[in-house]
Amino acid sequence: MPDEHPSPSQRIPVLVVGAGPVGLTAALALRGRGLPVVLLEADPSDRVRPGSRALFVHRESLNLLGGMRPGLDRTLVDNGVIWPTRRTVYRDKEVFARSYPPRPPQPDRPERPERSERSGANPPFTSLRQVETERHLLAACVEAGVDIRWGAAVTEVETSPDGVRVLTGDGTVHEAQYVIGADGARSRVRRSLGIAMRGERSEAFHVVVDVEEDPADPLPLERVFVYEHPALGGRSVMRVPFAGGFQLDLQCKDDDTPEEWADEKRAARWTAAVVGEKYAERLLWVSRYHFLHVVAETFTDARSRVLLVGEASHLFPPFGARGMNSGIADSAAAADAVADALARPEERLRAIGDFGTKRKEAAEFNNEAARTALAHLRPRTRLARLRQAAGAALSPLVPSCGEWLERAPYGPRHGVAGTTKGRY
Ligand SMILES: Cc1cc2nc3c(=O)[nH]c(=O)nc-3n(C[C@H](O)[C@H](O)[C@H](O)COP(=O)(O)OP(=O)(O)OC[C@H]3O[C@@H](n4cnc5c(N)ncnc54)[C@H](O)[C@@H]3O)c2cc1C
Repeated sequence: MPDEHPSPSQRIPVLVVGAGPVGLTAALALRGRGLPVVLLEADPSDRVRPGSRALFVHRESLNLLGGMRPGLDRTLVDNGVIWPTRRTVYRDKEVFARSYPPRPPQPDRPERPERSERSGANPPFTSLRQVETERHLLAACVEAGVDIRWGAAVTEVETSPDGVRVLTGDGTVHEAQYVIGADGARSRVRRSLGIAMRGERSEAFHVVVDVEEDPADPLPLERVFVYEHPALGGRSVMRVPFAGGFQLDLQCKDDDTPEEWADEKRAARWTAAVVGEKYAERLLWVSRYHFLHVVAETFTDARSRVLLVGEASHLFPPFGARGMNSGIADSAAAADAVADALARPEERLRAIGDFGTKRKEAAEFNNEAARTALAHLRPRTRLARLRQAAGAALSPLVPSCGEWLERAPYGPRHGVAGTTKGRY
């Protein structure tokens, strides 16, 4: 890197790398704290982002986003769907079903509601395609005055005791006091600092298909999990609605090949077997997702200048919707820590250190929860499979068995001890 050192006053206070949902959230959170933000994104401004991916935005995430940018939570709720019914089926037998009364119409909220009016006003979740969530986050960032530099791929990051130097592909050097690295699973920021990911990755995979709904004759608005679907050779499949369609998530077996299940024509065929022939023509996106759960060995650099958030610091399987939601909580915590460190430099090591400790703890919790969920989804022993079959057989008499089959694919719901922002 070129060797000129600007004085601290010439440095940008904070630079965010990556305009995925997590980086956009970090930028909004910083603007919410009155800090100027430069956001570097490798892609061009007219990029097309793929697929539904993280559909499920939890209430905790909505509350955080509404706190950063009043009204953003409401926008996401108004543009998403809230399915009123959850069902679980074992082979061809329903073992659990619960419906909730529709949410009453919400009164118009003022443009800038008081903090007390925001909390508790949000539903338990909203479901919309990640690409839509990102569109609303980006619009909020633009309104909030985030300085977004598109086509700025970070190639190298170097820390010093009083700042960070960031090099982009066009040779520009950016100097910042702090960097929030939100550049996703292959994070260049993380790799540049030599921070390793620890955990497991399996060659086994699941297939995710987005399907456009038929507005003239839609399926019921319900999330359905089917264990050992009879039309899929005993593979399990989940259907999750989003605004305008639904996502199908197929659990493949260890010796399945992508050609058999993730090829578009094959995916159209099994989609038709699960939800009906007319949907074979309505596939929007087909993707393959490997089973992995990994966490960065540390969430900050040794000099406490760089903070890693979202998939730059952890990767989980999607069950339980822990990926994007925990990334949003990471970003809120990172922005708090950076604002604190800038306001009270004498406290900065504590502020950044607390961020690293608490968010790593949350990630380890989520990692363990995802591992538990995966063990249930992919039972390794005959005994584990028998327990599920027995639970299904007993469910008409013992409703808690049906409830167990309903909840277990998503992992434990509560208990991230010591984190600042709820369970993610
Ligand atoms: C099939 C699938 C289903 C999923 N389902 C769910 C779900 O139901 N619920 C859930 O919570 N999560 C889910 N996830 C995970 C979710 O999509 C991710 O958690 C989320 O995208 C992570 O956001 P991020 O901002 O950390 O990273 P990304 O979305 O990967 O964003 C990173 C950004 O950084 C940019 N970038 C990369 N390198 C550089 C660089 N060198 N310089 C500058 N910019 C760079 C990228 O272009 C990108 O814009 C799913 C993922 C997949 C693939």
